[in-house]
Amino acid sequence: LLTSAGELSGTVFEEMSRLAARTGAINLGQGFPDVDGPPEMLDAAAAALRGGGNQYSPVAGVPQLQEAVAEHQRRFYGLEPDPASGVVVTVGASEGLAASLLAFLRPGDEVVTFEPHYDLYGAVVEFAGARLVTVPLEPPRFSPDLDRLAAAFGPRTRMVILNDPHNPTGTVFDDAVLSRVVELAAEHDCVVVTDEVYEHLRYGGAHRPLAALPGAFERTLTVSSVGKTFSATGWRVGWVSGPEHLVGAVRATKAYFTHSAATPLQLGAAAALRLPDAFYEGLAEDFRQRRDVLVQGLAAAGAEPFEPQGTFFVVADVRALCERHGVGDATALAPVLAERSGVVGVPVPALASAAHRGLYTTWMRFSFGKRRDLLEQAGRRLAG
Ligand code: PMP
Ligand code: GLN
Repeated sequence: LLTSAGELSGTVFEEMSRLAARTGAINLGQGFPDVDGPPEMLDAAAAALRGGGNQYSPVAGVPQLQEAVAEHQRRFYGLEPDPASGVVVTVGASEGLAASLLAFLRPGDEVVTFEPHYDLYGAVVEFAGARLVTVPLEPPRFSPDLDRLAAAFGPRTRMVILNDPHNPTGTVFDDAVLSRVVELAAEHDCVVVTDEVYEHLRYGGAHRPLAALPGAFERTLTVSSVGKTFSATGWRVGWVSGPEHLVGAVRATKAYFTHSAATPLQLGAAAALRLPDAFYEGLAEDFRQRRDVLVQGLAAAGAEPFEPQGTFFVVADVRALCERHGVGDATALAPVLAERSGVVGVPVPALASAAHRGLYTTWMRFSFGKRRDLLEQAGRRLAG
């Protein structure tokens, strides 16, 4: 089933990072920061490594991190997951998402999500024998059509996946969208899985988790990780929080994937989550400045960027660049830009379904999770 679909030959992010390595281009494709995370986090992990913290942790994670996650959810969002039974530590948000999906999905079930979307959702839904039903966010504004959202639900809908802030578009969903998702999920008795890995990369407003809406917590699994907030995508530490009856099923499932995440890194993550508000504010301001550099660079190069309200991605209509380089679409442009301009981005059609790919043919995603000088250089290269 999977290989005949040809979808699992490798992720587009791996492919674009290989392209960047081969051509020596600036890699604005795969999203990962090019700096280390906060020293408090690194010191805590190093101390744990040297201090005997090198054996299995409990399946649900070290209690210090479970408590730090619960405390973070309370500090920023007023949510109150129980640290012991309502938080499970996972190997990145990736395992948190995979375990959440596989814990609840059965063959024939349907899962509603917006597209374009992070590629893991489609792959794991398929592992479960379930089917992803997508609602397109249409360019150039990428705002959801609530009638189309409602129409995507049916008798087989078992789950909704909401990625907010949204990769790749940088969209942040407003209260009307979040409330409609909660209503529809209640009507169809669905579990909602929210992917909030970009929760602290928000520009012009604080993040509001769907679980904080009235009536939402009891049916919602909230997933996040250290990767983006603490510039530690290689640590592979994430977590899922929510009500005990849902989180318990995720814990039981993930026990058979990896058992537990790396113990010393969990202790580092616990220290990171406890950093003062000033750290989080500084992070968002730093990324906002980098966003502006990349948005301006793309516009100066003739692309038409959509200004993101969250994440570290900008999607841009690269029609003018396609014309300049004599290619038909963003997919054909990616290797040409790498060779001729020395910049790698991800063609958005790679993150869309066959049914809706046509909406995004001239759109490309660029990451600003990089040093400012590199972002400035990328802008100049694209213009040249
Ligand atoms: N969800 C989204 C939307 C992502 O962009 C990513 C990649 N950073 C992940 C999940 C995976 O996160 P992690 O690296 O913590 O597994
Ligand atoms: N989340 C990152 C992105 O969207 C990449 C993660 C991965 O390589 N799977 O670019």
